[in-house]
Amino acid sequence: MTKSGRRPLMAGNWKMNLNWREAHLLVQQLAARLNEQQLTDVEVVVLPPFVDLRSVQAAVEEGKLKIGYGSQDISQHAKGAYTGEIAGSMLTALGCTYAVMGHSERRQYHSESDEIVNAKVQAALASGLTPIMCVGEGLDIREAGNHVEYTVAQLDGGLKGLTAEQVEKVVVAYEPVWAIGTGKTATPEDAQEVIGALRKRLAELYPGGTADKVRILYGGSVKGSNAAGIMAKPDIDGALVGGAALDAEDFSKIVCFSEN
Ligand code: PEP
Repeated sequence: MTKSGRRPLMAGNWKMNLNWREAHLLVQQLAARLNEQQLTDVEVVVLPPFVDLRSVQAAVEEGKLKIGYGSQDISQHAKGAYTGEIAGSMLTALGCTYAVMGHSERRQYHSESDEIVNAKVQAALASGLTPIMCVGEGLDIREAGNHVEYTVAQLDGGLKGLTAEQVEKVVVAYEPVWAIGTGKTATPEDAQEVIGALRKRLAELYPGGTADKVRILYGGSVKGSNAAGIMAKPDIDGALVGGAALDAEDFSKIVCFSEN
């Protein structure tokens, strides 16, 4: 454990990549590169497409792997006539422990508002899943200098109505949109500025130690070569990784950031 007892979390968002066979193989390749100690020091999670979850579950169970997995989205509804949606209970039945909501690609292409993100956080918690709630500003907002208040407002909206006990279970991922998939990483200082402000806001909203328990990740072009610098910042507890998570070698380097 580091940073006030918060265990680092490295979560690989595979986005819409890999079929079920490729998914099975990638989990095995990743596990083969990480030893027991590394998987104890750092929590490793993969977030495959829904249709790959069964084969990821099989790979994890067959190999008794200490790798967690979850979904890239979750329905805000528990069940019923919601064509194309996937409920939290369906995810836990497959052994998922995490669900992402509010990724910038879903905010942008699927009109996922803070209200919907909030409903999805609540749905995940109700199913026993750990939400990974994404926030982050676009380039226009960053250039106007409004990135801190913008992301803090997204945090407020996404956590609306939650108790301190519920918030302690949430993982927040700060992903500046301009740094996702672009190769442009925010500097560790840029990431710390916003993540520190998010933690400060959590402390205001939930006095009594909650803010120290919540893990806040950085995401946006994280690679083996830049993970250590990002992780050196006091409020950054891990990474949400896109492109580099599709490569077992690079993702395992991110997991082993402390050895670089
Ligand atoms: C992401 O999609 O969450 C992400 C951070 O992508 P990338 O690492 O490729 O920038």
